[in-house]
Amino acid sequence: MEIDIFTLFPEAFEWFRSQRHIRSALAAGHRLGFVNYRDHTPLSGGQVDDTPYGGGAGMVLRVDVVEAALRARYGEDPTTLRDRRRVVALDARGRVLDEPLVVELTREPTLTLLCGRYEGFDERVLEHFASERVSIGRYVLSGGELPAMVLCDAVMRKLPGALGHEDSALEESFSAALEGAPEYPHYTRPAVYRGWRVPEVLLSGDHARIRRWRLEQSRARRAQSATIGARAPEPSDCNPRAAGAQRPLS
Ligand code: SAM
Repeated sequence: MEIDIFTLFPEAFEWFRSQRHIRSALAAGHRLGFVNYRDHTPLSGGQVDDTPYGGGAGMVLRVDVVEAALRARYGEDPTTLRDRRRVVALDARGRVLDEPLVVELTREPTLTLLCGRYEGFDERVLEHFASERVSIGRYVLSGGELPAMVLCDAVMRKLPGALGHEDSALEESFSAALEGAPEYPHYTRPAVYRGWRVPEVLLSGDHARIRRWRLEQSRARRAQSATIGARAPEPSDCNPRAAGAQRPLS
């Protein structure tokens, strides 16, 4: 798989690139490339953003700057690029990343990720260049770099060659092997710690029993998380002035 990440901060990915599963995926032939919007801006002084029409706080990442970076990398009009490869804009309002989307993206031979900054992209980037918007959750981060790392990590650890044990990515939370349920609990030595015992079945050596127990645990966790997930957030849950939150600086 070939992934290109468009960002103003390619250096933010240095730690990510150094992780063993990412190094292993790259050594196995997968590719992770970076394009800095600033290296291709047609504006003077390395300008990439501008004030929002209509006024308001913050700066907006310019559409001509994003176009120039995409053209420099792919040598074509970015309005047609999305017909032949997925161009994902990281956006808090997008489709929320989950296991089915990760699996879908893992099947793509190429991916382009666009990281926003400041107040985000000029809307025309999202309308005309991106094939889709992906969010890592309903909260706002300062930039698309962490979301891009989250997406890449979830996708790349599934690629052949990334993990030491290929089976690790097969049977884990939300995988088909566990019928989409959360993973069962794990334990390791010591078998008793402060009086807390590892479930007897795991010490039994009876693999068929262990398998049944693990599936039961997964299903029970799914039933439990369905109950928790059923509660939609109240507007008051999102109020930063609620008890415990800091007052804004005046
Ligand atoms: N003004 C935007 C809003 O209210 O939705 C927030 C912009 S945010 C400060 C800057 C950039 O960070 C976004 O353009 C996006 O690329 C990225 N970003 C922030 N939160 C994100 C999330 N939850 N998922 C994906 N990307 C996110």
